Amino acid sequence: MDNCIFCKIISGDIPSATIFENDEFKVILDRFPGNQGHVLIMPKQHCANIFDIDSDKAGRLFSLAVKIAGVMKKTLGFTDMNVLQNNGEIAGQTVPHFHLHLIPRYENDGVQIKWKQLDLTDEQIENVRKKISENL
Ligand code: AMP
Ligand code: ZN
Repeated sequence: MDNCIFCKIISGDIPSATIFENDEFKVILDRFPGNQGHVLIMPKQHCANIFDIDSDKAGRLFSLAVKIAGVMKKTLGFTDMNVLQNNGEIAGQTVPHFHLHLIPRYENDGVQIKWKQLDLTDEQIENVRKKISENL
């Protein structure tokens, strides 16, 4: 993808702080991190988001995430972490090349990842449950 910033990082046209790479994935430090040690894991082959990625590849990506998260925890001195993944502009995705965020959390770090909770009725919950469940 010519205009994709992460494809350019993967090809080496744009520099990055690379932590790990293999045939399938590249793992880098976020250049504008939400917290110290904010890591991004991305597939090397361009795909936009969760609706576009091959599910087996997504599985392998998450296995790699578990490994990287464990090493980060051992080496960076934190205990907690947010794992995030945005899909589409409305959901806050700014780079349309699939990536998983690993964000270490430190006591009183001031990072906010929180939404206002909706007060739905049981009926509303059931309507949504049915729509998804019956189509799986
Ligand atoms: P998202 O908003 O989920 O699409 O996340 C995109 C992430 O890419 C943001 O956290 C940015 O800080 C990060 N980012 C943007 N440009 C670069 C870059 N050149 N190198 C590394 N990370 C970047
Ligand atoms: Zn790309």
